[in-house]
Amino acid sequence: MDIQHTTLLIIGGGPGGYVAAIRAAQLGIATTLVEGDQLGGTCLNVGCIPSKAMIHAADAYHQAHHFMGGSALGIHVESARIDIAQTVRWKDGIVARLTGGVGALLKKHGVKVIKGWAHIVDGKTVDVTLDHTAGPAVRIQGEHLLLATGSVELGLPGMPFGGRVISSTQALSPDSIPKKLVVVGGGYIGLELGLVYRKLGADVTVVEAQDRILPLYDEELTKPVSTSLRKLGLQVHLGSKVQGLNAAGDAVRVLDGAGREIEIPADQVLVAIGRAPHTHGWGLEKLMLAMQGRALKVDDQCRTSMRNVWAIGDLTGEPMLAHRAMAQGEMVAEIISGKRRHFAPAAIAAVCFTDPEIVVVGQSPVDAAKVGLDCISAHFPFAANGRAMTLEATDGFVRVVARRDNHRIVGWQAVGAGVSELSTAFSHSIEMGACLEDVAGTIHAHPTLGEAVQEAALRALGHALHV
Ligand code: FAD
Ligand code: NAD
Repeated sequence: MDIQHTTLLIIGGGPGGYVAAIRAAQLGIATTLVEGDQLGGTCLNVGCIPSKAMIHAADAYHQAHHFMGGSALGIHVESARIDIAQTVRWKDGIVARLTGGVGALLKKHGVKVIKGWAHIVDGKTVDVTLDHTAGPAVRIQGEHLLLATGSVELGLPGMPFGGRVISSTQALSPDSIPKKLVVVGGGYIGLELGLVYRKLGADVTVVEAQDRILPLYDEELTKPVSTSLRKLGLQVHLGSKVQGLNAAGDAVRVLDGAGREIEIPADQVLVAIGRAPHTHGWGLEKLMLAMQGRALKVDDQCRTSMRNVWAIGDLTGEPMLAHRAMAQGEMVAEIISGKRRHFAPAAIAAVCFTDPEIVVVGQSPVDAAKVGLDCISAHFPFAANGRAMTLEATDGFVRVVARRDNHRIVGWQAVGAGVSELSTAFSHSIEMGACLEDVAGTIHAHPTLGEAVQEAALRALGHALHV
C-alpha cells in the first residue's frame, strides 16, 4: 500500500477542514486533506449556500405573484411561472462555482487533497478508501490529526428517510414541488425550507414538538415570524408528536397539542429535527476520545483528549454553524504553527433566514438576567425607519442589551427583512467591547436599516431621535 507522510492530516473538507488547510498551508505547514464527497462539505453543497439560493428564488417568485393582483408600487405582472429544473440548475451552478473555488484555493496554497473516505488506524494514521466497500488505497501518517467530519441529519425512528420522507438534502434539489408538504420540526431548516416550498406553491404544514417555533430564540423575536407564517398560509401544529405515516403512506399521523390523533395528508414529508455530530462509521471509536454527549469533547484550543488530535466544527457539537467551524479551523492551524490562540469569541452570531429574518448576537435580556447581569435594553422598530418603508419591510425591530453600570453592550437581537446583514455590526461592537455611547455616537449612513441600530442604542440611553 502507498504510504504518505505529512505534518497536518485533516479529515473532512467542509468549512472547518478546508479553512484549516488553507491557513496551515499559508503558515508553511505540510498539509493533506482527505474528503470523501465534495469539497465544501455540508455548507457549500447541501446546506448554507443552496438553502439561501432556494430562499432567494422562492422570494423572487413569490414577489412576482404578489404583483399579479397589482400593487401599491404600480407594478402589475400578468402571470408568473417557475421552471423548477432551471432553478435547481442555477442553484447547482452557484454551488459548483464555490466548491471549484475551494479546490482552486487549496491547490494554490499547496494543500494535498485526497479524494476518498478516511478510516482511523491510530491517532497519527488513517487509511483512505475510494468508496466505503473497497480496501484502502493509501495510508497517510500525520504528526497532527484534525477531525472535521461534520454532522449528519437525524431521522425519526418510526419514519425513516426514503420514498416520501425526505431530508434537507433532497428538499434542496426538488424535481417538482409537491402539492402537500408536511415538515417535521419548526427549527432552522423546517422554517427556512418550509417557507421556500410555501412560496413555490405547496400547501405546507409544520409539526413542532415544542410549544413554539424556533424554541432556541426568545418569543418576542419569533412572533413576527409566526405572524408571517400565518399570513403566507403555512399551518403550524405546536406541542405535537409525529406517530408515523398512515397505512396508505399518504398522510402523517400526529398526536396534536390537545392530545388528539390527527392525519395530515402529505405528498412529501421533510424531516428536520436536528443534526448530530458525525462520529460513526470511520473508526473514531478506536481513539477512545472523551465525549460530551454525542459530540467530541474539545478544550478552548480544540484539542481532544489525545495529544495532537484536534477536532472542530459540527463534530464538536453546538452551535453547529459554518462560521464557527471556519473560525475554529483557522485557530487550530495557527496553534499548530506555534501561535498562542484560544477559542474565546465574545459572541457567535446566529442568523435564521426566515421571512422575516432573525439575528441574535450575545445575550438577550433574559440570558443576561439569568447570569445575574443588571442590564438595560431598548428596541427600535423598523416601522419608524425610512429605509424599511421604502423596502415595504416595516415589520420587526432591533434590540440592544447593555450593562447598566458601564453601558457595555452584551447583546443585540433583530427581526426583520434583511437583518442578517446587521449581524456583522452586532458582532463587531460586542467583540470590540463597545458601549452604547460608541454606537450612538457613530454616524450611520442614511437611509439604511442600520440606522435602527444607532437608534436602539440612543433609546437605551434615553434619547432616541426618531421614535
Ligand atoms: P461539514 O460541512 O459537514 O463537512 C464535513 C465534511 O467531512 C463533509 O464534506 C464530509 O463528506 C467529510 N467527511 C466526513 N467523514 C469523512 C471521512 N471519514 N473521510 C473523508 N471525508 C469525510 N450554518 C450556518 O452557519 N449558516 C447557515 O445558513 C446554515 N444553513 C444550513 C442549511 C442546511 C440545510 C444545513 C443542513 C446546514 C446549514 N448550516 C448552516 C450548518 C453548516 O452547514 C454546518 O455548521 C457546517 O457545514 C459545518 O462544517 P464542518 O466543516 O464542521 O462539517
Ligand atoms: P433545529 O435544532 O434548528 O430544529 C429542530 C426542531 O425540531 C426543533 O424546533 C425541535 O423542537 C423540533 N423537533 C425535534 N424532534 C421533533 C419531533 N420528533 N417532532 C417534531 N419536532 C421535533 O434543527 P434543524 O432545523 O434540523 O437544523 C439542524 C442544524 O443545522 C441547526 O441546529 C443549525 O445548527 C444548522 N442550520 C443552521 C442554519 C442557519 O444558520 N441559518 C440553517 C439551517 C440549519
